Parts: sequence; structure tokens; C-alpha cells
Amino acid sequence: MPDGLGAPLSEPLFERAALIGIGLIGSSLAHACRRKGLARAIVAADASPAVRETVRKLAIADEVAETAAAGVEGADLVILCAPVGAMGAIAEEIAPHLKPGAIVSDVGSVKASIIGAVAPHLPLGVHFIPGHPVAGTEQSGPTAGFATLFLNRWTILTPPEGTDPKALARLSAFWTAAGANVEVMAPAHHDLVLAITSHVPHLIAYNIVGTAADLEEVTRSEVIKFSAGGFRDFTRIAASDPTMWRDVFLNNKEAVLEMLGRFNEDLTALQRMIRRDDGQGLFDLFTRTRAIRRGIIEQGQETAAPDFGRRTGEN
Ligand code: NAP
Repeated sequence: MPDGLGAPLSEPLFERAALIGIGLIGSSLAHACRRKGLARAIVAADASPAVRETVRKLAIADEVAETAAAGVEGADLVILCAPVGAMGAIAEEIAPHLKPGAIVSDVGSVKASIIGAVAPHLPLGVHFIPGHPVAGTEQSGPTAGFATLFLNRWTILTPPEGTDPKALARLSAFWTAAGANVEVMAPAHHDLVLAITSHVPHLIAYNIVGTAADLEEVTRSEVIKFSAGGFRDFTRIAASDPTMWRDVFLNNKEAVLEMLGRFNEDLTALQRMIRRDDGQGLFDLFTRTRAIRRGIIEQGQETAAPDFGRRTGEN
């Protein structure tokens, strides 16, 4: 069955693409590059020897470099795919080894703090165009990746003022060929949008699963047994990578706290509706929220199948 990515390109967009950090996103990019012929050679680097070994076994890159510095030598595209907190140190390490004219990008889930950590290290003559594919799963590591992860999802690029339009067009073409839709945004706006669409929902999921785990009057086995009532859908998000999400919250503090403040106010209003038997208020809110889900399905960002498209017996 066709995977939806279409035929490989007749000519690669880049000669040598270096992916630094081969977890879920890095390995998915490697698969997508291979599948679509986006680069003549794919070079992978990762801090972990075990990950490098796995990448060799999976054969998802043409070369596996021992260090990020070695990985970027001669590359005309470099994408940093490590946790947000590691980006600054990687930029410092690779800076002297970057090829003049190379495009340097990243996939980090926050943008302003990464720009602050990376940009000061990069030499003049390379094009730094930060990015964020809004696509993922709760899995991590090099075996979790797949070529269609970015298909029909959005990749947000946050080019600094004065970015060379040709470099931006090249990077956009790369993501488009990987199946993504591309949107350009200011970094601070990206961080605010993602705070409410991704970061706060993860925090809520971590919190509700943590609360349930700590309950004394309901046993853990009951929580698991009756989880199909809604709880299990939070556990999927709350199973996301701890390192990645620690870094996201520490690096998007302001926007997350702003959105959490609003969330708390609305939660208090809901509490009041329940206490005051305000059925109409509850009904009106739930009707509005249902319409949001319809919009997400209409835009192809979720399946309309009942139970999130799970088939019986499959999770
Ligand atoms: P992941 O599966 O945990 O992979 C990250 C990889 O980077 C790991 O193999 C890690 O090695 C390696 N690494 C850590 N420090 C490094 C360094 N200094 N140099 C080279 N490699 C290093 O994470 P991921 O889910 O792919 O996320 C990667 C980035 O994508 C993050 O910035 C995240 O914010 C962003 N992102 C994630 C998602 C998602 O849903 N997962 C979606 C969009 C964007 P160790 O395991 O040995 O530390």
C-alpha cells in the first residue's frame, strides 16, 4: 500500500545532510531523507555509543560519525535533533567545523531559548533557520522513527530577520518533500502557540497521571483496570520522554506559566459551575469544545474513527 509520501525526488535537495541526535525525530528524518532521496548522503551523529551502534544496525544513515563536530564536516544541511537543553553545547562544538553557506536548523519544541543558546556560537556565512516539526509520538530513541512521521503535519520555521530567502526556500522544500506543511512564524509567537497546544496539555497529563498514581483510596490496579473511561488517553501523553519534556518546561517558562494561569482561572470557573449546579454552563462549554475537535478532524490532524481509530484489542 502506498505510504502517502509520493515518489522520490529526481535530484536530491542537499548533498550531505547531517543529523545530530538520533532519537524519534532524528531517526524519522533519516528515514524520510532516504525514502524521498532528499540528500545524496545522510550522516548521523549521537552522543550515545549505544545509539550510534543501533543506527549502524538499522542502516538508516550512510555514515555514522563519532562526534557532532565530525558529523557536520562538509554538510550543506545540519539539523540538530537533540533535546532542547543540549542544543547550545552542540552548536559550540560544531561551529568551527561548519561548511560556509551551510543551512543549520533544529527540531526543538521551543524556539526563543534555542535561538538564544545556538545563534551566538554560529559563524557568519552559515544560514541559521530554526524549525519545529509539530509531529511526534510518546516513543523515543532511534528505533521509534518512521518515514511518514511528518506527513500532513505542520513544520514551523522561525527564520531570524534578514534570513536569505533562498536558504529559507530550500529548507521549506526539504520539509515539504518529507510530507509536511510549512508555516513561518516569529519565535515568541511559536512558543506561545505551542504552550497551549502542546506544553500545557503535556503538563496536565503528567499531573493527572501523577495524581491518580498517588491516590490512597483507589488502588493502582483499579486505575489501570478502569482506565478506558478516559484516563488511558492521558497516560499516552504522560509516557513521553522525561528528558525532552523537562527541557521544554525549563526553556518555555514564561509562555507556559502565562497559559497555566489562564487554565487555572478557567478550571476555577468550572469548579464553580459544578458546585452551583450550573448544568447549562457546563453544557455550553462542552458543546464549544466538541466543535474544536470537529475542526481538528476536518483539517486532517486526527482520525474521526471512534476511540481514536484504535481497533478492538489494539492500543
Ligand atoms: P529522543 O528520542 O530522546 O532523542 C534524542 C537523542 O539525542 C538521543 O539519542 C540522545 O542520546 C541524543 N543526544 C542527547 N544529547 C546529545 C548531544 N549533546 N549530542 C548528540 N546527541 C545527543 O528525543 P526526540 O523525541 O527525538 O526529540 C529530539 C528533539 O526533537 C527535542 O529537541 C524535542 O524537543 C524535539 N521534538 C520532539 C517531538 C516528540 O514528540 N518527541 C516532536 C517535535 C520536536 P541519549 O539518549 O544518550 O541522551
